[in-house]
Amino acid sequence: HQRIFIGLLAGIAAGLALQGLRHSGFLSPAFLEGLDATLLSPVGKVFLGMLRMVVAPLVFASLALGVAQLGRLDRLGRLASRTFALFAVNMAVGTILGLLLMNWLQPGAGIDAAARSSLIDSHAAGLAKAQAGLAAQSGKFNVGSLVEMFFPANWITSLADPNLQILPLIAFALLCGMAATTLSESQRVSFIDAMDLIARLGTKIVDFALALAPYAVACLMASAVIRFGAGVLGPLLLFVFGVLGVMALHLFGSMTILLKIFTKVPPRKFFRGIRTVLLTAFSTSSSNATLPTSLRVAREDLGVSAPTAGFVLPLGATMNMSGTALYEGCVVLFVAQAYGIHLDLAQQAILVLLTVLSAVAVSGIPGASLPLIIGLLGNFGIPAEGLALVLGFDRILDMARTVLNVAADLSLIHISEPTRQAE
Ligand code: ASP
Repeated sequence: HQRIFIGLLAGIAAGLALQGLRHSGFLSPAFLEGLDATLLSPVGKVFLGMLRMVVAPLVFASLALGVAQLGRLDRLGRLASRTFALFAVNMAVGTILGLLLMNWLQPGAGIDAAARSSLIDSHAAGLAKAQAGLAAQSGKFNVGSLVEMFFPANWITSLADPNLQILPLIAFALLCGMAATTLSESQRVSFIDAMDLIARLGTKIVDFALALAPYAVACLMASAVIRFGAGVLGPLLLFVFGVLGVMALHLFGSMTILLKIFTKVPPRKFFRGIRTVLLTAFSTSSSNATLPTSLRVAREDLGVSAPTAGFVLPLGATMNMSGTALYEGCVVLFVAQAYGIHLDLAQQAILVLLTVLSAVAVSGIPGASLPLIIGLLGNFGIPAEGLALVLGFDRILDMARTVLNVAADLSLIHISEPTRQAE
């Protein structure tokens, strides 16, 4: 993880230097685009590609293995109810912290109509993309569509979806694991051995990817810095640092309190143990792409039992997104402030509920929450183009929210592990 961190810093420094050379006229924009397309992005893509390749087999094997090893369905029920309750509390607390800060700082109030329309004009393309995403997702918020998310007409094609929908795979793995508990003991053991083998192969491939990580992370960061928008405004920075601050508070504050109250795990040791995961989440902006690394670290470095890791982490990567929920709430309030729309306490309470539900529906890929934020804005009668106000900074905030999304899964796992509690 030290080498990955050095790669991260080197990538940021190189990106800034290249941008500086472009601004002073030493390098042409075309040269930088070429460098990004032929070197930086491809190296990053090999790393991401290796991680993405193992997501499906690793999720399936870890989850099925976890359930089969739990052995009895009542134990699974207890783990599941504990886990889902923790997910909900984690996301609600994160969002409430975010809303409190936004109410206090009022960053959106500093944006006047002229700044608003110039920001909207300069992010027209990003806005159109998010609006198209919302159109594709529309109608997702009812019981029927929720069931559809787990049980689509064809679960294999849902894996081929560019959004990598892994909920159907999770459902199938759970069913296989549950079915395995009803087999004869020798058949159950064979099933466990087979799943264990697949999980080990996947973990090994993650090791290969991590060996490449220092270079790939440097390339990913340099590429991100080169593409950053340059327009910086005071109120926007207040928003960005406010969001980053509250994310840090939830990550290091709420999680530390939870670990201290409910577990015997020293928070310092915990955060040191998950450094590789945090760096992977930061550089990939994707919970899904980070999942193989989380599984490996949970089992090998944090000493979490295989069944619990295999059950909680894949579910957490898609459903437990406190960084995303917190961010969604902050953006809605910020944009409302920028348009002079007041959301009262009752409306903000509804906002907490809606952000938690929508964060569950967000896929663990970069920028996945943007379409849902447009939906949320619409819910409160706030102009959807307001999303453009924050698009210039979305990349960096996406990195940060993904870190929080993933870190919360790893800390909650210590609380939901029943055996550890009994010890
Ligand atoms: N990038 C986030 C994740 O993968 C999702 C989002 O909020 O856009 O966790």
